[in-house]
Order: sequence, then structure tokens, then C-alpha cells
Amino acid sequence: MGKIEIKFIFCGLKKEFLYKLKSHLEETFFSEVEISSLSIDFSQAYDVKRNQYLAEVIINNVRGFKKNINEKWLLIVDVDLYAKGLNFIFGEADPRSGIGVISLVRLRPEFYRQKPNEKLFLERILKEATHELGHLFYLPHCENPKCVMYFSNSILDTDRKDKYFCDHCKSLLKANIVLKILK
Ligand SMILES: [Zn+2]
Ligand SMILES: [Zn+2]
Repeated sequence: MGKIEIKFIFCGLKKEFLYKLKSHLEETFFSEVEISSLSIDFSQAYDVKRNQYLAEVIINNVRGFKKNINEKWLLIVDVDLYAKGLNFIFGEADPRSGIGVISLVRLRPEFYRQKPNEKLFLERILKEATHELGHLFYLPHCENPKCVMYFSNSILDTDRKDKYFCDHCKSLLKANIVLKILK
């Protein structure tokens, strides 16, 4: 079983939050999780007109640093992300390279002109991180709105879903993990 690494890039996420994220992911993915920071230049991903970063370019820039194909890397950035054809995204995952990215920007209540709420902010981080890592374990989107693999069109979807997999996705995840071990 490959390790999961959480790499934060230029983001000032509190240690306490990172540790809570680590323990949630360890429990959910039956894997060891390591936290470290990564300094890379992803200015090429920036679109001046949109004032956003193209997630796939960030992932591409990181690919060269990742030597072990069995590892899963989750990048945490504090810039707004987009993908082609979408106004914004909370995150993106590339299962082939085992790299995913989530943005903190739209997870803060302040982004929606609401009062800061650390508990809510952390819950959203746990959900989006679990979702993108789920994709790295080859899980598709799920139609169950309570399942963490449900696609979030807006923050309301994120707030409605759980930070856990539904039973169906959980069994898919276990099967994918077992297949990986047998390979
Ligand atoms: Zn997704
Ligand atoms: Zn599900």
C-alpha cells in the first residue's frame, strides 16, 4: 500500500487543522499519511483575466517531483482554481499520476461574506480532501448527495454531504486498495 502525502504549497493552514486532516485521512483510507510542504513555482498556471489558476497545470508542474508512483499526493493551495469549461473548482485529481489538489479559497465562509467559522472551514477541508483522494483511488462521482464522492457544484453541496464514503463507495475503495496490494 502506497503512502499518502499531504503537501501544502504556500498555504498557511494551521498545524492543528493539518493534524485533524491527517487523522481523518488515515482512518478513511486505511493508509499512513505524511505532511510536508512543497515550494514550487506555479505562476504558469495563472490566468490574469480570471485571476485564477488552472489546476491541471499545477498538477503537471508537481509531477516531476513525485518519484514513487504508488504514493498519492494531495496538494493544498490557497489560490482560486479553475478547470477548462468550469467557472471554478474546489479541487481536481489526476489518478494516473496520483496527484490531486484542493483550494482553500472557496472553503472559507468569508468568501461568501459570512462570519469566519473555523469548525465549518475544517469540515469543508476534510470533505474536499477526502473527495479528491477518493478520485486518486479511482473512485468515480457518486449519486448519493450525502456521500463524500458527490460532485460539489457549489458550497451548498459540500455542506450537505458527509466527510465519509457511502457504503457503496466504501466497498469500491476497499476493492481498489486490495487490487493495488495484489498487483
Ligand atoms: Zn470529483
Ligand atoms: Zn458514494
